[in-house]
Amino acid sequence: MTISTENIRVRIAPSPTGDPHVGTAYIGLINFLYARQHGGKFVLRIEDTDRARFVATSEQMIFDALRWLGIEWDEGPDVGGPFGPYRQSERAAIYREYVEKLLANDTAYRCFCTPEELEAVRRQQMAAKVPPRYPGTCRNLTNDQIQLKLFESTPCTIRMKVPVEGSTTFRDELRGEITFNHNNVDDQVLMKSDGFPTYHLANVVDDHLMQISDVIRAEEWISSTPKHVLLYQFFGWDAPRFWHMPLLRNQDKSKISKRKNPVSLVYYRQAGFLPEAMINFLGLMGGGMPAEINNASEKFTLQEMIEHFNIRNIRLGGPVFDLTKLRWLNGEYLRALTPEAFYAELRKSVLADEYLSAIAALVQTRIETLSEFGNLTGFFFSDNVLPSPEVFLPKKRMLEETLAFAGEQLTVLEAAEWNASAIEAALKQLGEQQGWSVKENFMLLRTILTGSQMSPPLLESMMIFGKARTLDRLRRFIDAQKKLAAQKK
Ligand code: GLU
Repeated sequence: MTISTENIRVRIAPSPTGDPHVGTAYIGLINFLYARQHGGKFVLRIEDTDRARFVATSEQMIFDALRWLGIEWDEGPDVGGPFGPYRQSERAAIYREYVEKLLANDTAYRCFCTPEELEAVRRQQMAAKVPPRYPGTCRNLTNDQIQLKLFESTPCTIRMKVPVEGSTTFRDELRGEITFNHNNVDDQVLMKSDGFPTYHLANVVDDHLMQISDVIRAEEWISSTPKHVLLYQFFGWDAPRFWHMPLLRNQDKSKISKRKNPVSLVYYRQAGFLPEAMINFLGLMGGGMPAEINNASEKFTLQEMIEHFNIRNIRLGGPVFDLTKLRWLNGEYLRALTPEAFYAELRKSVLADEYLSAIAALVQTRIETLSEFGNLTGFFFSDNVLPSPEVFLPKKRMLEETLAFAGEQLTVLEAAEWNASAIEAALKQLGEQQGWSVKENFMLLRTILTGSQMSPPLLESMMIFGKARTLDRLRRFIDAQKKLAAQKK
């Protein structure tokens, strides 16, 4: 099919659940290029209906990270536009209105099953090794039964009524037709008992109301697409075109994960990657870019991508997020800078005034001559802090248990809100649970992060160093030690 170049409207719809993810930038880039090439509009919509996973600072971090990369949107929560609001939490009344339409045309129904009942069914299904599915208990309640439950104020969710027979087929623009048998499509909850929509309902209603022509998203959403296509049918709407992009992968081909790679864009920015290198690298993922088209170099700018990108050239084999390649590319961009521009980059990141002055405040009372500044603060500037076991291993501990505990520290820090008292409390709680004294616990972290048993105050140092780089350092320490241990075996 040739794509009509009229009224192309695309979107990304990130959920603000944490740090901005490299995958969001990758999908954002492809949507952005596609919109620019077709004279269309690129929308940024914030899907913040999952209140349990909501992180207040996340939205602004997403905006900052995308702008840092040069990915600009035409419509969105902060820039407005004719189809707003662009934050789903501000559209609750719209979803209620639309779910009523489905109830009225009998393509959705109220479900009064309690969480306990649903859990019991799920357990049975797991035990019987059948995929978990809603058994349809409330599908055929009579009107009287429903009215009675509502009269008694029994909490309810609203589910879509997936036809029992048959199948749903949709076209993926990169893969061709994909068919899902309705046996395998669950009666998805569309609205939760708190009146908030689920992703599926809000996503379809918004894509329709925002007149999205092409849904370009990661392939992990393929299995949700039959539900979406059914919802379009239930509403009597035309579905957009669907393009599912290959997932970024770790070196071992598993789905990219923070256990194996830093996935936060905040990390790459703070660790001194240039936006030009990062966007170029993302452009190499999956193909479709000038390198393949022109047989030219692998280096290209965003502008060149806009000119040459071809979405149909995307390769479906999972592109590997290869840090070695990214570092090489970044080095190329750094070398191409004039000395003045290079210095300016240093001053914007690892030697920024704000960073230096925060570090200075930490050591003012701890040095006797200014020239000692570097002795105490080297770990803030060096990316190669790898303490030996003599330094990091507590006296009465074995290597294996120590690495396992460091892994627990990593998990706790990942989940922690980044302020000193929250981190301190979370680490102490972990230590208590695992039988590690406060001293052992904090000394281990100190040596891992600073390379030494003597350092400026740990928690304050971590605040300055930042969450993304702290986690990365801890992760690399654990990886490196595990590799060393494996070599010794
Ligand atoms: N909110 C979804 C996400 O976090 C959007 C997926 C989609 O593009 O439909 O990725």
